[in-house]
Amino acid sequence: MGQPVAGNPTQFMMERAFAAAGLDWRYLTLEVPSAKLADAMRGMRAMGFKGANFTIPHKVAVLQYLDELSPAAELMGAVNCANRVGDKLVGENTDGKGFVQSLRETGDPAGKKVVILGAGGAARAIAVELGLAGVSDITIVNRSSARGEELVGVLRDRVKVQAQFAALHGDYEVPADAAIFINATSIGLGDAKARVPVAAGSLRPELIVADVVFNPPETWLIRTAADRGCRTLDGLGMLVNQAVIAFKIWTGAEPSAGLMRDALEEFLSI
Ligand code: NDP
Repeated sequence: MGQPVAGNPTQFMMERAFAAAGLDWRYLTLEVPSAKLADAMRGMRAMGFKGANFTIPHKVAVLQYLDELSPAAELMGAVNCANRVGDKLVGENTDGKGFVQSLRETGDPAGKKVVILGAGGAARAIAVELGLAGVSDITIVNRSSARGEELVGVLRDRVKVQAQFAALHGDYEVPADAAIFINATSIGLGDAKARVPVAAGSLRPELIVADVVFNPPETWLIRTAADRGCRTLDGLGMLVNQAVIAFKIWTGAEPSAGLMRDALEEFLSI
């Protein structure tokens, strides 16, 4: 199907969880060039794979090779997971669900006002799932207006949640009535010192502050928010939970989230 590549965090978690569940399953990491995606999907069907995860740049392009989409994946227009049901490949998106599952550890997000920095794939998945989880209002803050406005349109028209766009100019001041602030950009990826464009003084202690970046997990935003007394959620919880959800979709069995978290920390040497 493609060139085998060195392991990735989800592979490491999945293989551990398969072994713990006594399942003789394998999770392969295969690099597929965009021009070969159609062939890879035919190969996946021919070889009877039970499922797959998709990452950049295939999350949108793969839609045309799937038979059905889950309602959330349909709203997002992107999938990170496919599941074979009989002869059909069903597209799912577990990124946003994984985020919401880790957010629920801090309480029910329903009725809360949320600010999301970013309008890419991760932001889109999180925003749609938060809308479906009943938050009262979502502000999308993004550098590119076109991308931000488009996401706000989906949230208002399809998810039916109150939403607005704020263009990113300098440091964003988190409004005093926001309950949750999420960095869903790639700022901080591979650079623990990279500063997210947010006014540190607007991070009130009552605010829940989350970062999707998981490597390194202790980003500038997580450190700054913790110093200001905010409750913080790093990107590891989202990564573990998207894998927990995918495992359940494929196998029908409940994996140990703790075991998968330990595997992830071992993989990342933290
Ligand atoms: P995309 O490329 O789809 O989107 C990137 C987003 O970041 C866009 O909104 C982009 O703004 C913004 N951005 C990037 N650089 C800057 C900058 N210097 N200043 C302002 N905005 C910036 O990426 P994804 O959404 O797929 O991924 C984002 C992050 O989420 C990655 O770090 C990824 O690793 C992480 N992730 C974590 C997961 C987890 O389980 N923890 C799961 C999935 C993703 P613009 O539109 O203006 O370009």
